[in-house]
Amino acid sequence: MSQPNSSSQIAADEREDAQASRLLTWLSATAIAFLVGIGAKAWLADHTTHAWVLWSFIGLIGLNMLYFAKTRNRNRQKGGLIVIVGLLFTYLIASGGESNTGPLWFYVFPPLLFYLTDLKTGTAVLLFCYLIAAVVFQFPGLPMVAAEYSMDFKIRFFATLTFESIFCFVLEASRLKARNELVILAETHEHAARTDELTGLSNRRDMQDRLAMEFSRYQRSGHHFSVALIDLDLFKAINDQYGHNVGDEVLREFSELMKTVIRQTDVAARWGGEEFLVLLPDTSLLQALTLAERLRSKVARQPFRFRGQNLPVTMSAGVCSIAMAGSLDALLKQADVNLYTAKESGRNRIAPRVRSQETDPPGAPPVKPHS
Ligand code: GH3
Ligand code: MG
Ligand code: MG
Repeated sequence: MSQPNSSSQIAADEREDAQASRLLTWLSATAIAFLVGIGAKAWLADHTTHAWVLWSFIGLIGLNMLYFAKTRNRNRQKGGLIVIVGLLFTYLIASGGESNTGPLWFYVFPPLLFYLTDLKTGTAVLLFCYLIAAVVFQFPGLPMVAAEYSMDFKIRFFATLTFESIFCFVLEASRLKARNELVILAETHEHAARTDELTGLSNRRDMQDRLAMEFSRYQRSGHHFSVALIDLDLFKAINDQYGHNVGDEVLREFSELMKTVIRQTDVAARWGGEEFLVLLPDTSLLQALTLAERLRSKVARQPFRFRGQNLPVTMSAGVCSIAMAGSLDALLKQADVNLYTAKESGRNRIAPRVRSQETDPPGAPPVKPHS
């Protein structure tokens, strides 16, 4: 039930992406404000190069924001900001920033990284940043490296950063686990709310939604569809004679049989009690009648057995095509009228009776046998 690409999962991913994107825009704006301030402070302290470098990062962040505003590409927005922040922190470690406090900004990175990327990518980027920090710490004579740190600072910096990174990793992993469990729970509830418990078929609510969708598809693009309203004959007598449990078993067996007759694109639902509705997309009246007749004859031939006795299980069905009804209500009403006719004419039959292919109204799609 927990397919990774289920609709709930996709919706949750989309929501999280949109949320992360809004947060990034907000973070970018905050970073710009900070850089303006810290740059100004450096400028006033006569650290003009440092001020200009900081301000140039404003340009990069601004460009990233503009690019996102234009393309709405969230992955590029994320990737761009991670690279810019990574570069900024590398610069701050290498230059020492103001009074050798540059490395402190690094603590922002682990939570940001794990929030924005997956655990694997976050860990990889973080390890890469550790490597850069280690190189800067180890080789203070390298070009562009202006800062020198005491051994105590280096050890404490790495130790505290490692603790922070591990905590961020664990928190993010448990957040993801809880989120996935919620998605699975939502899927399970969604499935249960749309499925008939006894037969495993769609329930009435699910069928109503599907009918509405099929009807709007018909209105949009003229795709015909038909329905077959099926009712088990004299089912009360089976219950009365053999018991409710046996009746339930018959309903289950009948549903299984129906699944073997309909196409993958058809949908069978338990419409209520011992009544079923089959939705047949892209199906003319004649095709629907053919399918209903095939099902009827299969049910009549199938031995439904209980304690060595054959149960008298048959079905009747009323079929109707959307081409013969202007609305869903009219379609269902006509199928019901036809079912009543089938019952009235002796049960174990389908209505309307097929006479010839002229049964199909003009404009209905060509006859295609169900397989
Ligand atoms: P007809 O051929 O006219 O449809 O006769 P019928 O006996 O099938 O019709 P009726 O509407 O009189 O009876 C339907 C019966 O279906 C009565 C009800 O107890 C039974 N039924 C409805 N839902 C269930 C169910 O979930 N399980 C069982 N075992 N029986 C059910
Ligand atoms: Mg019945
Ligand atoms: Mg009934």
